[in-house]
Amino acid sequence: MKIYSIAIDGPAGSGKSTIAKILSEKLGIIYVDTGAMYRTVALYCMENGISTTDGKAVEKALDDINLGIEMTDGVQRMILNGRDVTSLIRTAKAGQGASDVGTIVAVRDKLVEMQQKMAQKTSVVMDGRDIGTVVLPNAEVKIYLNADVEERAKRRLKDFSAQGKTETLEAVVEQIKQRDHNDMTREYNPLRKAEGAIEIDTTGMTVDEVAEAVMKIVYEKTGEK
Ligand code: C5P
Repeated sequence: MKIYSIAIDGPAGSGKSTIAKILSEKLGIIYVDTGAMYRTVALYCMENGISTTDGKAVEKALDDINLGIEMTDGVQRMILNGRDVTSLIRTAKAGQGASDVGTIVAVRDKLVEMQQKMAQKTSVVMDGRDIGTVVLPNAEVKIYLNADVEERAKRRLKDFSAQGKTETLEAVVEQIKQRDHNDMTREYNPLRKAEGAIEIDTTGMTVDEVAEAVMKIVYEKTGEK
């Protein structure tokens, strides 16, 4: 069977992971959440007293970080030096830390190489910020998801409350704006719509509507359904 890739990029809370999970189930291919990899590097720094904004120190720490990705029943588990940190990386602080370490060239180069190797072996749907532009520029399908900042913040707030965390809408809007700014203005591989990517503004759309629109594009581009 032919190996193919689906690249999904977009800002925080645009619905990438929700849609990628649906595609992965429908198509029977692996979902790779690349944000989780940046979050894991950030968690290592946070746990070891390394500032996530100290490029030199983070680069040095990379040698001590053994990053494992395991797929269990279609769920991606992040293994940091032998320890499962899958739920520990789902905090706003780890998200901000990920955005910091994501500006460091050595971090990006290491993670991008791992991501490219994964997509060589098997068909994947991969989401992140630089998938269509840098990681998989030849992906058969490239999608750029977007939505109003308020709506994205509301979605994040829902995720947080499902995890039993309390945050205010104002605080989450600020966090998201800060991350958008970081991700779009960093020098190395910033977030932007890839050439050939199809943009979908998901504001006001239901998950099913977005999934249907994306599946239609996948079918047109690959014949898969
Ligand atoms: O997608 P998620 O919110 O988990 O990503 C956390 C952060 O990791 C993003 O805000 C971004 O700064 C960084 N990231 C990245 N490149 C990717 C995936 C995530 O820079 N491919």
